[in-house]
This record gives sequence, C-alpha cells and structure tokens, in this order.
Amino acid sequence: MNLFLVNPKSDFTMDNSFRIDQENLQHLFTTLQKRGYETVGPTLADEAIVYDTIASVEDLPVGWTDEVGPGKYRVANGGGLSSFGYTLSPQSWKRFLYPPTRKLFSAKKNGKSFELTQENDGEKKHAFIGVRPCELSAILIQDRVFSSGEYHDDNYLALRRNAFIVAVNCSQAGDNCFCVSMKTGPAAKDGYDIALTEVVDGDNHYYVAASGTEKGREILTEIGAATASGNEIAEAENVVRRTTAEIGKSLDTRGLPKLLAENLEHARWDDVAKRCLTCGNCTMVCPTCFCSTVEDTTDLSGQTAGRSRRWDSCFTMDFAKVSGGNFRTSAKSRYRQWLTHKLSSWVEQFGISGCVGCGRCITWCPVGIDLTAEVKAIRGTKVKQEKGG
Ligand code: SF4
Ligand code: SF4
Repeated sequence: MNLFLVNPKSDFTMDNSFRIDQENLQHLFTTLQKRGYETVGPTLADEAIVYDTIASVEDLPVGWTDEVGPGKYRVANGGGLSSFGYTLSPQSWKRFLYPPTRKLFSAKKNGKSFELTQENDGEKKHAFIGVRPCELSAILIQDRVFSSGEYHDDNYLALRRNAFIVAVNCSQAGDNCFCVSMKTGPAAKDGYDIALTEVVDGDNHYYVAASGTEKGREILTEIGAATASGNEIAEAENVVRRTTAEIGKSLDTRGLPKLLAENLEHARWDDVAKRCLTCGNCTMVCPTCFCSTVEDTTDLSGQTAGRSRRWDSCFTMDFAKVSGGNFRTSAKSRYRQWLTHKLSSWVEQFGISGCVGCGRCITWCPVGIDLTAEVKAIRGTKVKQEKGG
C-alpha cells in the first residue's frame, strides 16, 4: 500500500466539466452567501496573500503572485487577469476549522458554585474558495486526526461538516512545492464540492469547473454554468500539466517511515540542530500540525474563569515538560521529533503521511531549513541504529 497516496484516484481528467466566467464566479459567491455561508478566500493584506472573509470577486488578489524560496516570501503584482495566480497563502485553512485559540468554556461565580457555559463554533458555515489540492489533502488528513481513535474533536467535525469547498487547481508551482512526490497535487482529485481550473489565454479568462458532490453540481447549475467545450477542457488540462512539469522540488518517499525510524542517531540531526532556532514557525504554518495546549484563566476578583485551547508546538520547551522534568531539552531532539512524526510515526498513528508537500515549513523557516534536503542527507548516508536517544 502506498501510504503517501492521499487521493485515491490517480487518473486526471476533467470530463463532464462546466465553464464559468468571472460573472458566474461572483454569482457563486452570492449564491453561497444566500445559503448562509461566510465566503472565505484569498485576498491581499499586509504584503501577503491571506485567507480571510471576502465579499466578492473584487476582493480576490487579481494580478498578484507570490515568490518563495527557503526562508523567503514576497508578493508581486505582475498584472494580468488571473485571480488565483499565486501558489499559497502563508496561512492554511486549519485556522478556520481548528482555530489558533478557542475558548472551551467560561465559568461565572453564582453564590458558592459556578455556572458553566460551553463555547461552540460548530454552527458556523464556511465556504472556502481557492483551496489548493495539497491543502485539500491536509484537510482530509486532519479529518482523520480529529475523527479517528477514541477521542474526537466535535467542534472541528461540526465546522467541517458545514464547510463548502471550492478547490482551485494550481496554475503555477512555487519553488518549495513538492506535491507531486506526495501525490497531493497539483490537481484536486477528491474531497471538494467544486474544483476550478483557471485559464487565462490573452483576454480570454474563464474557469473549467467540476463538481465533486451533489451540492456542488446543484450550485453550478444554479449559477448558470455552461457545459465546457472540448477545447476549454483541453486548455484547463494543459494548465495542470504545465504546473506538474514546473515542480522542481521532490522528496523520495520510498521506505521513508522505516528509514527515519532506523536513523534516530544519524549525525544529520546534530547538523540541523546547529541551524534550527526552535522557533516553531514550521509547526504553525504546517496545514496538518495539530498539537495544542490548554490554559485556565481567572479574573482578579475571582468572579469569572475560563478555559482555552491554543496551538502549541513540539519546538517549545514547555511542550515536553512533565512532572519528572523535560524529556526533550535539545534542539536536536525537538527537530527530530517533528520530522520523524511528520514522515514516519504519523503513518503508524493515522495510516498516512503527515506531510502534503506544500513547502510552507521551508518558506517560513527563518534560516531556510528544507525538510527534503534533511531527508536526502539522511538517505544518502543512512546508518542503522539499535534504538533512538
Ligand atoms: S511538513 Fe512542511 S511541506 Fe509538509 S505539509 Fe507541513 S508545512 Fe507543508
Ligand atoms: S526548522 Fe526552522 S522554522 Fe522550524 S523550528 Fe527550526 S528554525 Fe524554526
């Protein structure tokens, strides 16, 4: 079994697709809004392309693109008609489904006891517009994380059930993308309600749209999408083929969980520890990382109290602090924990890799540490160890 195959369908075609233009896209926004969805999508803010609430196609980052490298992110306006001509936002969609901080409950003093109020985001309905295929795979991975095993995250699952996903296939490859190695892109194959491929051919600007669910098909019909012609489908398929060919970075996933598990004392962990600042950026931007901590607070009068959950990181010192001390004090042990969890023990836990190849951890690492290079170095000089330290 290929554990790195998130999307089960390997053949890519756009048969039975629709053609929509920018006017239909606006109609899609309003139709979703009328159905009670908050439309969330890419927009330009703070010199970055961020995912935020957007009201209309006017809010999309038309003409903008992003340039990335190890430890590098820039936006640039190259002009043109493209609304989705960038690769990725620094943020991922997990901040809507699994918010960075979430109040779990609040308590108010009432005589000698407390009244508890449980907080719940589950009623919110998000329509995510512009989900990249690797990001869709990350959502499918988090679905497993939060729904498998004994403990479920009901808030996540309620938000997820209410979400409508408009995926957009990639029309450009970022320098840090390696979705082809992880079989998660650059085309979405599963898990979306609607998948768009944007085609810009001179002044001719349109999207080829496929429905992935009955609801998606119903909405495409409602917005007046026409059947796409053979030529339009061929153009859209070319967009994806070109992007596939542009992806330069790769990760050799052959036997990777075993390779890492057998090399816990490899000299490369010391090498990367000299560069790693243990800032935790890589975990914050990663669309699949899910570690959290819980904090209790009270006001000074002792009348109200609350419990919140917030994202945590295996790179922070407190993360591994237990009653007997800290079991992961060195940078080496923390980086190793992160990488081996992503690419090795995650597979044992959830039956799938914890990495979708989005490259965000490379882009947002202040010293440009690249996990594909770290794995390559370990694979190149692997030494079998008896046990980890
Ligand atoms: S480990 Fe890095 S490349 Fe992989 S999914 Fe997380 S951020 Fe993306
Ligand atoms: S690998 Fe980079 S981003 Fe991650 S903790 Fe180390 S320095 Fe920070």
